Amino acid sequence: MLTVNAYAAPSATGPLTPTTIERRDLGPHDVLIDIRYSGICHSDIHTARSEWGPTTYPIVPGHEIAGVVQEVGAEVTKFAAGDRVGVGCMVDSCRECDNCRKGLEQYCLKGNVGTYGGVDADGQPTQGGYSRAIVVTEDFVLRIPEGLGLDVAAPLLCAGITTYSPLRHWGVGPGSRVAIIGLGGLGHMAVKLAHAMGAEVTVLSQSLKKREDGLRLGADHYFATSDEETFAKLAGSFDFILNTVSAKIDLDAYLRLLAVDGTLVNVGAPEDPLSVHAFSLIPARRSFAGSMIGGIAETQEMLDFCAEHGLGAEIEVIQAEQINEAYERVLASDVRYRFVIDAATI
Ligand code: NAP
Ligand code: ZN
Ligand code: ZN
Repeated sequence: MLTVNAYAAPSATGPLTPTTIERRDLGPHDVLIDIRYSGICHSDIHTARSEWGPTTYPIVPGHEIAGVVQEVGAEVTKFAAGDRVGVGCMVDSCRECDNCRKGLEQYCLKGNVGTYGGVDADGQPTQGGYSRAIVVTEDFVLRIPEGLGLDVAAPLLCAGITTYSPLRHWGVGPGSRVAIIGLGGLGHMAVKLAHAMGAEVTVLSQSLKKREDGLRLGADHYFATSDEETFAKLAGSFDFILNTVSAKIDLDAYLRLLAVDGTLVNVGAPEDPLSVHAFSLIPARRSFAGSMIGGIAETQEMLDFCAEHGLGAEIEVIQAEQINEAYERVLASDVRYRFVIDAATI
């Protein structure tokens, strides 16, 4: 066992505090990763606060992990000490079911093993990236291409793949009219990726405060959803809308912005149920869908795509002792555009 420093939430209401956790001994297929950076995803906050159902405490959040391989198990073939690597939202799956065989490990029929809040093959609860090191089976470790800094790469492991996967699945490319709802961690990556894929990109944000940033990130248009005019002006004008908002919003208003056969994909996962009126879909054969992260091979494809296009996250690097403050800023939509913890301060 390896004892490592970590930050954990002790309960749904208590602040995250320093602690230590145990990492398992290196198995034959395991990789020990010296974590350098760990992104703060809004899902960390939902989980730390038991917003998606009861969490088992203490919990060490963090599933946007970038670091360097420190040691590998005897039978590891894909990685060697010194390699730059990442770990996202999953650390294992059954690998046998139809979905796993198709490279859709995130939809494993037996349930994937979450990087935190899951139960590992050895029966132990998993603990995430707000820590100095992690042990992960090599099949769930990603390679971070040269040219991508580990700090700006960390958020790609969740925010990047969660937006890349639906953009690809629904065939976004040149000629697609795409809207991104919410310019936070996921939203800003969605703008960069959709732009790089050749789409015409519109940001739908609560206000115009981040307009300059949105245009710089690659958006062609930017509208405030607090302005009622926005919804009248944009009615029926998008082929694809990605909702990245962490809170409940009036989906019907956004569905009416879709053209005939358009699709609104929800990746935002608010605590409260969302509702959709049938008549927001019926009159234009619209679709409403969801999407969860992406498979392992697709995550590698996304990292390679980002390296090729020079895309990293826009980040604010923080010390571990600022995690609780960062949570408050995320909740206040005051994130530009991902907080990343310098793991050396954990
Ligand atoms: P984030 O950085 O907090 O971004 C969310 C953005 O939504 C905010 O920046 C804000 O953008 C907008 N927003 C927040 N509250 C709002 C409200 N009340 N009304 C309208 N807009 C609001 O969060 P994130 O890390 O990107 O995560 C977003 C959501 O995706 C979370 O629910 C998270 O759990 C979920 N998620 C899902 C997956 C998946 O696999 N499906 C993966 C990762 C995360 P503006 O200021 O521009 O309006
Ligand atoms: Zn996440
Ligand atoms: Zn499976």
